[in-house]
Amino acid sequence: MKLYNTLTRKLEEFKPQNPSEVKIYTCGPTVYDFPHVGNYTSYIYWDLLIRTLKLNGMTPKRVLNLTDVGHLTSDADDGDDKLEKGAKRENKTVWEIAEFYSKYFLENYEKLNLVKPDVIARATDYIDEDIKLVDELTRKGYTYETSDGVYFDTSKFPTYADFARLDLDHLKAGARVDFNSEKKNVSDFALWKFIKEGENHAMRWDYLNRPGYPGWHIECATIIHEELGETIDIHTGGIDHIPVHHTNEIAESEAAFEKKMCNFWLHCNFITIDGEKISKSLGNTYTLEQLEEKGYMPLDFKMWVLQGHFQGTRNFSLLDLAAAKSRRLNWKNKAVAAKQLGQIRKTTICDEILKAVNENLNSAAAFSIIDTNELNFEDWQFVDELFGLGLTKDADNAPDFVKRLIEEREEARKNKDFAVADEIRDQLADNNYIVKDTPDGPVWQFLS
Ligand code: AMP
Ligand code: ZN
Repeated sequence: MKLYNTLTRKLEEFKPQNPSEVKIYTCGPTVYDFPHVGNYTSYIYWDLLIRTLKLNGMTPKRVLNLTDVGHLTSDADDGDDKLEKGAKRENKTVWEIAEFYSKYFLENYEKLNLVKPDVIARATDYIDEDIKLVDELTRKGYTYETSDGVYFDTSKFPTYADFARLDLDHLKAGARVDFNSEKKNVSDFALWKFIKEGENHAMRWDYLNRPGYPGWHIECATIIHEELGETIDIHTGGIDHIPVHHTNEIAESEAAFEKKMCNFWLHCNFITIDGEKISKSLGNTYTLEQLEEKGYMPLDFKMWVLQGHFQGTRNFSLLDLAAAKSRRLNWKNKAVAAKQLGQIRKTTICDEILKAVNENLNSAAAFSIIDTNELNFEDWQFVDELFGLGLTKDADNAPDFVKRLIEEREEARKNKDFAVADEIRDQLADNNYIVKDTPDGPVWQFLS
């Protein structure tokens, strides 16, 4: 299969180090607030990645982290810690905030039928290992201390700018004058932050005889090393992670362990809503619950996401979501019809579908193949394995009374008793079923 690799800026044939353990790391959410639909898009695309690897005979070992400490509101090591901000907003402890939003995120992860990661790693469970990593970087001469923390000296890591193709001179010229004057270089970043006297930061650990907490990037470098080892196969995240977060992860990991951190980097683009950037201040965010209130299942949203490509800039609208919902219903109904009509056996269509997705996760091309061919029930099961859209799950679920009503309707029609036939149709509709007459006889389908 081919994947676009941010590291080389090329579409490349993906070859894992060991197909029976493909090491994958996904930067997970900061668990401090309700995620909006934009936040979920990347996890949906990475779900497709995992499912595609599996259908190509590989076995992924995948780690997802939950950032429950240390992610400041600005990527530039200033602003509040997002968890502290959440705690203040809701008058709860930071630990309660982390617990609540972690649970909430994982529940929605399940609702979207996303394959569960092999390891779900909470940043706060790796503090000792973070400290070991900072110590190792210090031992190797990469760090320096300021009054507010331990910083990574990016000038000591000659390839620092390579990953994001950063223009460091330009960065320097654009830096604010008052910007942390103790830093040696604008691109230097905090590995560890000290808590000043009187500063309100409930999550705190002792290091260098002072209370403090880890910087954001160190958790990923640490968790990857602890759970997956030195060189991993694929690292995923949003495009916003390229210039700061992932650049810093690479610097920390490669400086400390002296091994290439990762072979393939995949980055998902941002979606807009009604043509605008998604933001709370614009009031244009949707949570999955808000979509459910409007009659859209999380899997309808997943369908919408998979209609596009992870590298594309996509615009979300309720109108397009409605179209995705009816496409999913249409597929679901085709699957249940195939089942009832005994069109069961898997066909070569599945090979074509997988081939399309193997080209850099081109689900949209696969969807066109699905739309323009007759699929058997096992083909639909394959489509479900690949996309996790819940199409075949309820295929056996028409209750007996539905089957009986369909028989009675057939009988009534044979007897030209159309009034009774219509009445039965209404009764079925009340229960969210319809009857569709096909050349091979009537089949039940879902009304919505
Ligand atoms: P935030 O909590 O706002 O920092 O978002 C967490 C992550 O979600 C970001 O780092 C992005 O990778 C991703 N994200 C945020 N907004 C969008 C969006 N509109 N489209 C796609 N991904 C997004
Ligand atoms: Zn990360």
